[in-house]
Amino acid sequence: MVVSARGRWVSGSGGSSSGGSSSKAAGALAPSSFLASSIRATGGKKGPAPMVTRPGGEMVAAAAGSNGATIRPALTANALVQRDISTIVVPIGGVTEEGAACPGTSLPRASVNQANRNGTTVGSLFGQCSHGKSRLTAANSLVTSLVKLPCEGNTWGVPWSFSKCDFDDFNGWADAADEALRARGVMLERYKYRVYLVPPSACGFVGLGYVGCDGSYTCRAWIGSAFWDSPPAITHELGHNLFLGHSSTANEQGQVDEYGDFTSIMGYCCESRCLNTPQAWQMGWITLQQLDSSSLKPGQTVQLRLASQALAQQSGARVDVSSWVAGVDPIFVGFRTVDRGDRGLSAGAAGRVHVYTAPTSHTFDSRPTLWKAGLEAGQSWAQPASGVVVRHQGTDGGLALVSVCRSGGTETMTSCTTGVDNDCNGLAGVDDPACASMMRLGVGTETTNKG
Ligand SMILES: [Zn+2]
Repeated sequence: MVVSARGRWVSGSGGSSSGGSSSKAAGALAPSSFLASSIRATGGKKGPAPMVTRPGGEMVAAAAGSNGATIRPALTANALVQRDISTIVVPIGGVTEEGAACPGTSLPRASVNQANRNGTTVGSLFGQCSHGKSRLTAANSLVTSLVKLPCEGNTWGVPWSFSKCDFDDFNGWADAADEALRARGVMLERYKYRVYLVPPSACGFVGLGYVGCDGSYTCRAWIGSAFWDSPPAITHELGHNLFLGHSSTANEQGQVDEYGDFTSIMGYCCESRCLNTPQAWQMGWITLQQLDSSSLKPGQTVQLRLASQALAQQSGARVDVSSWVAGVDPIFVGFRTVDRGDRGLSAGAAGRVHVYTAPTSHTFDSRPTLWKAGLEAGQSWAQPASGVVVRHQGTDGGLALVSVCRSGGTETMTSCTTGVDNDCNGLAGVDDPACASMMRLGVGTETTNKG
């Protein structure tokens, strides 16, 4: 990871502080500290590869025409990103000595205590969407009372003001709020994640958060004043701290809408819903059935039964098409229903089987995901590069029936007579027009020869 820091050296005994470009040779200077005003990191954290295990129980029945073999896809899971999402939430106001709002701001219009919409809280979203694996609770987290700051100040040598909204400003408010909380006796070190609720001001954002943090520096996020009472907004920013990128879509021209995936809280604010399938897998919150070149051969169809992602931690599927076509991102398939953490899922997303592609390869991989399709029963999605067709066939007992087919090319007399759906159009044998014409021709020829 490449890290660049802005700030200044603070002298230890005998040392002297100098400019931010100072370099320190080992042993050459007296002990001193570098106080960073901003830290940028690029390159990402290397994470452990997902675990792949063979299931013991019955996972899936072989499709008709898949050579009679029972296919039991492997299961894949990532290391859990974080068990305790211990968070301190800090509402901030900028006030004059007379107690009025600072110029350019107003006093907060919402209380964080209102951050409970129809029973959904930040804590309930983490608890339910992670299936109890990651927890943000009253026991490990704290919402402070309003922290009132002066209209301008200087913290760690960096001036800040409530009259504008540069990084140094809202980061300065956070630094100053931390000092005020320490003066109150709050043990900030007990909370890995710090969410600052900024007052109505020049800051027009919904929220901001560091993408990833691993304990070497403070995990900070900021929430705009109109979203203090929005659990999805706060959960989205904490999601960035947990190494999540955005949930995107792309149109046929390849133009990306960074937030366009309405099935994920890492898309646009503010419906209450969980993560999409690749991101929930990234977090270590769900386990997926995995297909690759050995379990999905050309001309093979595998039938999957997918539980609702909101109700079962073992739910979706990952098709690692990169195992037979290089450079193509794996396909993720998930079934979403209006339940638990997904109770606010939009009507257009509910009850559908969603298909995504994502390069995500481990817990700390914050590359964005791409939503591709939301399939109603009877609909299918095809990826020409890999020959894969995903088909939502219907539901049975609350489970989605999904077939995943890998094309072996056009139908042949062999595929037709053995009932294999070689071209992945969902039809096999005489039911497939391509076979029907070929087999009629075959029967006719035979009759003629006999005659
Ligand atoms: Zn975001």
